[in-house]
Amino acid sequence: MNEPTGTDHQQDFPGYRTPTLDLLVREDARVWSQATLHTDRGDFTGLILPRSETADADHVVLKLDTGYNIGVRADTVASITIHGRKQANYKIPEKAFPYDPEKPRVKLLGTGGTIASRLDYRTGAVIPAFSPGELYGSVPELADVCNLETDKLYGVFSENMGPEQWMGTAEAIAAEIEKGVAGIVVGHGTDTMHHTAAALTFMLQDLPVPVVMVGSQRSSDRPSSDAAINLINATRTAASSDIAEVMVCMFGPTSDEYGLLHRGTRVRKMHSSYRSTFRTLSDVPLAKVDAAKVTPIRQDYRKRRDAKTVTLKACFDDRVSLVYYYPAMKPDIIDSLVDNGYKGIIIAGTGLGHVNKPLYPALERARDAGVHVYMTVQTLWGYVQMYVYETGREIMGLGVVPAANMTPEVAYVKLGWALGQSHDRDEVRDLMLTPICGEITDREPHNGYLVMQGGLPEVDEFISEHWK
Ligand code: ASP
Repeated sequence: MNEPTGTDHQQDFPGYRTPTLDLLVREDARVWSQATLHTDRGDFTGLILPRSETADADHVVLKLDTGYNIGVRADTVASITIHGRKQANYKIPEKAFPYDPEKPRVKLLGTGGTIASRLDYRTGAVIPAFSPGELYGSVPELADVCNLETDKLYGVFSENMGPEQWMGTAEAIAAEIEKGVAGIVVGHGTDTMHHTAAALTFMLQDLPVPVVMVGSQRSSDRPSSDAAINLINATRTAASSDIAEVMVCMFGPTSDEYGLLHRGTRVRKMHSSYRSTFRTLSDVPLAKVDAAKVTPIRQDYRKRRDAKTVTLKACFDDRVSLVYYYPAMKPDIIDSLVDNGYKGIIIAGTGLGHVNKPLYPALERARDAGVHVYMTVQTLWGYVQMYVYETGREIMGLGVVPAANMTPEVAYVKLGWALGQSHDRDEVRDLMLTPICGEITDREPHNGYLVMQGGLPEVDEFISEHWK
């Protein structure tokens, strides 16, 4: 075992803090060492990576040979054997982003997530933030598309995004629009990107330019990363597309030949690891984007306008909850929300929008306490239909309002946003049930169920022939 040597921590152990730092100093296990960590759960061999600025202090990050990164708790490590060193290019070369007066101005606002923490897809370097120069150094194709400016709003994984950050991001976007940018890209973790996309849709109305959310499902130090391609596609969309809506731009279903643009209120992350994880639910995506252009799949979108104004409605009452119903749920779940002062509840009910009878008195009590309760479906695709079964009618009689085909997450975001403006029952209902941008649609198109997004073309054809 070595004594701490007073090494330059910034250089040898970038990002590490006590207690992990103490362990690495003690074992002289510098970042970029190929090492075996001997722990009370067995041995783990891999490359010791630098830590990102948002990471905790307790884990050493190892890149295994499989390409996966794992965190090993420092207090489980008895000793470390060093096999050698494999220095990656940690610092992305900063190259001045070339300015081309012919190209549109795009603003990239970073909030964090995988796309921000590991962006150099060739060197595997970990970068804590992204300046235009770093981006150009790692994804030079961006300069073919636009003049890029960047700002880091937050540096968090997306489970840490919430109403405060949604409002902050909406305000930052409104300010950029007033400055006259051609489009905006928002870098974001994928896990809650659909919540933020919905929040931005409600908070930024009458958009004159595209607002394109982008992330990556695989970090850019992995050969199969989607970071660069998604970023290029999103930037192209922001620079040149005439769709002035909040969209999510992510990997298409079958290959890396194209990305899909999903409407911010109809999109959801549907797979924990596939790159084509985002799906448009109960509808078809807005457009395809590839190396050449953006090709709309539908025509009913808000068009780009020559304006520098947007209607900003950045408000949110966070006393709202989303309850996923399960058989045998007890009424005390609803009671405790009411007792704790929650003002709105979205239920993701079974089938067409149901919960069990023991919940009825609790729902009645919630209504009498002035709590706004809305029903969505946990099937995710399709509409709430509370007139079909007696159950649905009874539940509506208790004051529960069917939320059409809003996804549970979108209904949750919309209810918080609506309650940020009013607590009057009718006003909230009006806000909730008047569609702002596709969160409620009149009908699900024949190809609105997975088709165009990984569905089989022959099935698509069959359905279109038999669709009445
Ligand atoms: N956990 C990450 C996040 O949502 C995953 C990602 O960025 O894709 O922030």
